[in-house]
Amino acid sequence: MTALDHFAAQKLRDLEARQLRRRLIESARTDGIYVARNGRRLISFSCNDYLNLSHHPKVKEAAIGALERYGAGAGASRLVTGNHPLFAALESRLTSLKQTDAACVFGSGYLANAGIIPALVGKDDLVLIDELAHACLWAGARLARANVLAFRHNDMAHAAALLAEFRPQHANAIIATDGVFSMDGDLAPLPALATLARRHDAWLLVDDAHGLGVIGDGRGSRFAHDELPEVPLQMGTLSKAVGGYGGYLCASRTVTDLIENRARSFVYSTGLPPATVAAATAALDIIADDHDLVAKPLRNARRFTAAAGLPEAQSAIVPVVLRTAERALAASRRLEDEDFLVVAIRPPTVPEGTARLRLAFTAAHADADIDRLAELVHDRVLA
Ligand SMILES: *Cc1c(COP(=O)(O)O)cnc(C)c1O
Repeated sequence: MTALDHFAAQKLRDLEARQLRRRLIESARTDGIYVARNGRRLISFSCNDYLNLSHHPKVKEAAIGALERYGAGAGASRLVTGNHPLFAALESRLTSLKQTDAACVFGSGYLANAGIIPALVGKDDLVLIDELAHACLWAGARLARANVLAFRHNDMAHAAALLAEFRPQHANAIIATDGVFSMDGDLAPLPALATLARRHDAWLLVDDAHGLGVIGDGRGSRFAHDELPEVPLQMGTLSKAVGGYGGYLCASRTVTDLIENRARSFVYSTGLPPATVAAATAALDIIADDHDLVAKPLRNARRFTAAAGLPEAQSAIVPVVLRTAERALAASRRLEDEDFLVVAIRPPTVPEGTARLRLAFTAAHADADIDRLAELVHDRVLA
């Protein structure tokens, strides 16, 4: 064993001892609902494919057509020769859905946040971030070398106090939050955050990975509140309800022009493959047109929370917090015995002491399965 292998083995033993070691399990998804795993066919409540569009015939057909016409890969960064003709259609679908001047498509949501924040702020600036914001918002904030301050989850008084104390010492400031929190399913109070941003001359960046296609009639979290908050930086991903892959920023044309010049994850990474871009465009057309479909994940999540006696779901995501990794893993195994796939979520994805089951509801889940799962969670997991 080399010193490197010793180092890795020691780290893995340590994770194992704390029930935090993770392993890849081969998971075959051949429709939008079932997953074949360990020789079993399980109904998945752990996919973010909220509208089951990854397997929609129109989406697949669009991908196949693009692959045949433009090939398997983009060939280069979008700024070199990778900007194939399909990007323009995708970006125009995004701008019409999000009601912005412009959109800029990245390789993934993670790449978007890792690029956007450092392109806009630096060492003289402030990033104020919700403590439960997604790991890639944190990564972008740290890459920016800005002064990064976390406010307690959705605590507007705390955010206001931090801005009052620290905003004056910084040149520019970003307030960063998830629109729908990925592990809790609750919504950020975007109108209040927009007011704070205006009052303290800060730019609001909302990561809408779990809002697009699910809330606000499919337009996302900005459109899910009584008032329409000003969100100059609407970021999101094409990998959740859109069913494919890729990330985006919707903003003013001036801002996206700057991002296309300065975001390193945009400039120095290859453009998305044509098939991926065409699939996302087809999926966004479905999201824009099919109002009944986009209403279903939230309806299904609420059917579950009512039946299981949990607080009413605000999005397609429902957490069942069990505290320890051991309890979360045991609950996941118990549900798997009943043919449900509900993956246990452990630190560091969630804070220490809040390991949980995270249930993701999709449009195609059957009422009978939702009811059976609710009964199991109520009687066997929470009892
Ligand atoms: C999944 C997720 C991302 C990352 O998006 P990818 O396109 O999968 O890289 C970013 N933010 C949030 C809140 C997410 O849940």
